[in-house]
Amino acid sequence: MTYTKEESIFTKIIKGQISCDKIYENKDTLAFLDINPINEGHTLVITKKEYKDFLDIPETELENLSKTVQKVAKAVKKATHADGINISTNIGEAAGQVVFHVHVHIIPRFKNDGLKSWKRNSNARTNKDIAQNISKYL
Ligand code: AMP
Repeated sequence: MTYTKEESIFTKIIKGQISCDKIYENKDTLAFLDINPINEGHTLVITKKEYKDFLDIPETELENLSKTVQKVAKAVKKATHADGINISTNIGEAAGQVVFHVHVHIIPRFKNDGLKSWKRNSNARTNKDIAQNISKYL
């Protein structure tokens, strides 16, 4: 029996099996509107090759992805007259990742749009030991 990995919903979009509101496409990446937007113009940028998440992609893909994210974010900001933009990517279920095909959210933000950024955790420590512990893994 041959095992075929189930394709992500985004791979189905790339293959044209599911439609999307496409904004931009090049050889390696695709940008389209999020179906459930946080604000109007909320866009996703994905790699055409299927990688699980941002930590999973090789450097060349990272470069391709970053270039498209910047290019599209500039266009989103102009088109929506946004006051600001959030660029983010979720890694793992605990971080809110639902689709396991790397994607970057470009979210237009407006003064008084009512969206709150994350609440700070006053119990989380910040010190030299924590910085050094993280540095060990580089
Ligand atoms: P995340 O929580 O970071 O995995 O985000 C996945 C995003 O994909 C969500 O914001 C969804 O609204 C979006 N999404 C899921 N299916 C589609 C689709 N068919 N077309 C466009 N966006 C989608």
